[in-house]
Amino acid sequence: MTKTKKPQFGELSPKYSFVLNPYPDLRFSRCPFCEHKTGQRKIPLLIHVKPVHSIALNFTCRYCPTCDLLIVHKHDLEHLLTEMFCQYDPGSVGNEYLIIGTVEKSAWREGLHHPKVGAEILPHVSDFTAYYKELRVTHRGWYPAGQEPQMMEPPASQEWVKFKPDRQGCWSTKNH
Ligand SMILES: [Zn+2]
Repeated sequence: MTKTKKPQFGELSPKYSFVLNPYPDLRFSRCPFCEHKTGQRKIPLLIHVKPVHSIALNFTCRYCPTCDLLIVHKHDLEHLLTEMFCQYDPGSVGNEYLIIGTVEKSAWREGLHHPKVGAEILPHVSDFTAYYKELRVTHRGWYPAGQEPQMMEPPASQEWVKFKPDRQGCWSTKNH
C-alpha cells in the first residue's frame, strides 16, 4: 500500500486515515488493515472535481476506530456525485476528482443554506493524516506453493463516466 504525500489544504489539524474501496461488492465490516470490526461514520467530505468544483458531501463511511481509518465506498460515492452533478453541471460528470479531507459538521450544515465558496471553506477543513488512495485485495483461496495470490482487479466506474450516446448517462439518472 503506497502512501501519497500531498500539500495541506485544510487549516484544521489533520484527522483520520483515508482509503478508497473500489470493489462494489465488498463492504469491509472488518478493517482491511487490522481485521477488527468496523462501524459507520457519517461525515462531510470535501471533494474537488476538476477543474473548478469543490463540494462538501455528507457521506456514510466505514470506520475502523483502531486504525482511525475511514473507508469510502467508491461506487456509492460516485453514484451520489453523478446524481448531484447531473443537476448541477452535467459537463463535469466523469471528471477526475480528489477527496481532500473532512469538513466540520457545523460548517457543512451552514453551507447548505449559504454555500461557502473556494477558500472560505478551508478554515473548517481537516486534511487526512494518511492517504492510502485505493485498496487492493487478493482472491481468497488456496494457491500452489510459490505462486502469489492473484490480485482482484476492481471494476471501472459505472456511473461517473463521461456521457456517451450509446450509454445511459445523466438522463436516465435524472428520471429515477
Ligand atoms: Zn483497523
